[in-house]
Amino acid sequence: MKVRFWGVRGFYPASGGRFVRYGGNTAALEVVSDRGARLGIDFGTGAIPFGRALLGQGFGAGKGALPVLLSHTHLDHTAALPFFMPVFIPGNRVDIYGAASGPLRALLEALFNPHVCPINSLDNLAATIRVHDVVDGPVAIDGFVVEALRVPHGQATGVAWRIEADGKRLAVITAIDHPPSGPLAATVALARGADVLLHDATWSPSDNGPAGLWGGARTTAAIAVAEQAEVRRLVLTHHAPQHDDAAIDALVRDARAHTRLPVEAAIEGEVLEI
Ligand SMILES: [Zn+2]
Repeated sequence: MKVRFWGVRGFYPASGGRFVRYGGNTAALEVVSDRGARLGIDFGTGAIPFGRALLGQGFGAGKGALPVLLSHTHLDHTAALPFFMPVFIPGNRVDIYGAASGPLRALLEALFNPHVCPINSLDNLAATIRVHDVVDGPVAIDGFVVEALRVPHGQATGVAWRIEADGKRLAVITAIDHPPSGPLAATVALARGADVLLHDATWSPSDNGPAGLWGGARTTAAIAVAEQAEVRRLVLTHHAPQHDDAAIDALVRDARAHTRLPVEAAIEGEVLEI
């Protein structure tokens, strides 16, 4: 199983010379199994180059089908849906899986509100878009064994995902508010034994500023989940847009000083072999 990081920022994109190493696009991932099954995770701005890349792989001819798992509905995980090129080509199918306090489709439809976006409605996209509200438990997606767990994330509903293929396990927890007492047992259980845990680690333990209002986890929380779940490797993501390359390097150094687990930060454009 391979994971390609198309976007690893939280909140809003970053650009400029101080951000070239870790990259500037917001959340988007591609997961591909050894047999060629593919799924996407989130529609941050990283989904724009991801969508362009898919055009050469059947989606340009309207023969593509892509399941996409949403971690939640905040803009840094959804705003690129109107700019995802496969949705403009008839014949393609995009199946979006996620959760919200009401119907997920209604929330995604808000992205296409005429005052927000000239497309006016999800229904105006040429491809077939199907939206699936998930509950806790298995989600049927061809080529993968997928498990969803709804987790608290502000007023939105976060979904933590476990994805298995080729005998490997990936846990993706990028939208979660852990209780002050530490991660919930269900969260730890979802990540249990993962070969890779990809966890939101927006903030260092000493970051202040808008952290409280914007949400986003601290490195300490990511380490707590990783250690309690006994994962093999922790990958930090959802980098704060005001953290330049040097700041993320420092955040990783600090995290490594607080755990014996292998820790690294997700880098846009890189492919992680699991
Ligand atoms: Zn986010």
